[in-house]
Amino acid sequence: MIEILLAFLLYIALSIVIASRAKNSHLDFAQLFLISFFLTPITGVTFLITTKKRFYYYVYQYRCPRCNYYFTEKHSNCPQCIEEGYKVSLKKVKKIMT
Ligand SMILES: [Zn+2]
Repeated sequence: MIEILLAFLLYIALSIVIASRAKNSHLDFAQLFLISFFLTPITGVTFLITTKKRFYYYVYQYRCPRCNYYFTEKHSNCPQCIEEGYKVSLKKVKKIMT
């Protein structure tokens, strides 16, 4: 009888351990705990891996409104358009990179 109780406690402990990793996932602690508890901790780990947070970072680029070309460095005027005889100032844009 004590073995069953120990196995059950171990099962709950394992579910809590998995749920405590929720900060790396889109799911919260309660959601991960319930998934681990009712659908076995193996399913909980699977959810943890598949819902892993993606890391984004921003990069500033400079877009020309005339030719729609993106530049990574800042120019006072679009180098593409200057060759064609137009003076176009670049617009700073924020781009999301994954
Ligand atoms: Zn241009």
